[in-house]
Amino acid sequence: MRALLLFDEGRLELGEVPVPEPPPGWALVRTLASSAGLFHSQMASGMLDTDGFPRILGHEVVGEVAAVTSEAAPPEGSRVVLDAVVGCGVCEWCIRGEESICPWMRHLGIDVDGGFADYVIVPESNVFGIPADIPVEEAVMMGSALPAAVHAALRSGVGGGSKVIVSGVGSIGMMLCQAARAMGAAVVVAADVAEDHLEAAGPWIDRAVNVSDLAADEAASLLCEALDAPYGADVVFEAAGQPASVDVSIRSVRSGGTVLLMGICDGAASISFDHYLSEFLRREVSLVTTFGFTRRDFLVGNALYRTGKLDLSPLLGPTVPLDEVPEVLAAIAAGGTGGKRYVVDVAMG
Ligand SMILES: [Zn+2]
Repeated sequence: MRALLLFDEGRLELGEVPVPEPPPGWALVRTLASSAGLFHSQMASGMLDTDGFPRILGHEVVGEVAAVTSEAAPPEGSRVVLDAVVGCGVCEWCIRGEESICPWMRHLGIDVDGGFADYVIVPESNVFGIPADIPVEEAVMMGSALPAAVHAALRSGVGGGSKVIVSGVGSIGMMLCQAARAMGAAVVVAADVAEDHLEAAGPWIDRAVNVSDLAADEAASLLCEALDAPYGADVVFEAAGQPASVDVSIRSVRSGGTVLLMGICDGAASISFDHYLSEFLRREVSLVTTFGFTRRDFLVGNALYRTGKLDLSPLLGPTVPLDEVPEVLAAIAAGGTGGKRYVVDVAMG
């Protein structure tokens, strides 16, 4: 089969490899489409460990079941989307339904081979049937981007009437704006340094604030003003993955509010306060971290999509063939994504 292989030092090469043999309890899925975004460009640059090379990236996968053994799994030929989080299924976290923090968790397209190939294998419990009338391009985002946003939204406690700031409105940030809205947020303000991101987020936010070149206190004050919340936001989602954004996020949340951290800062990160007690400690702020999602978030995200409250289409970038992915990732590394996710056509037909 064709596979786009990532080698050490970020070299990507389209090659031929054997079709993988599913171990007992795993399904063989024929890939229709995958996605390419900032995350893949960060993977290729070595920001995250791949647990060995060569690795096939691609964590958002829509496909068709080629082979399964369980009667409970979607039958051969069905259209499916894959849950990218592969928990061990045995440990205490997996038993609690917290696969995303399973110490033995593996992630499709990170430390097990993903969807930049004609076939992919996953546990049969990670294969979910979807109606064939959902556009493949949108279904791609139901595999990871959507459940990751749902996971963050549920962990943040966002709910009816919440005043929310989303710092960093790339594709995940934009999905957070929508998820927060769908869960009852009253006001959503977006912060970013890229004007095109803020414009793209327009349909789902009340106001946008460009925080370029602003000191953290200044940015926080403008955000709270835009939110009409002089004492700060109920929930701030940090989805930019920049220490400056973490700093602004902690300064824009109200006392007793929650900062949900999901952006990936590269390497070391630190925040400092002139007065630790008054600026931070006594405000009783909840700092909640998140990475990935659980099967519950996957099901909630898919159910939310089916209600029609989400519109994933504006997040879609161009559709590109598998062999153009290296160029796309290089372009993303150089110029960002404009808040869009490329769809990788593996065999969309
Ligand atoms: Zn586990």
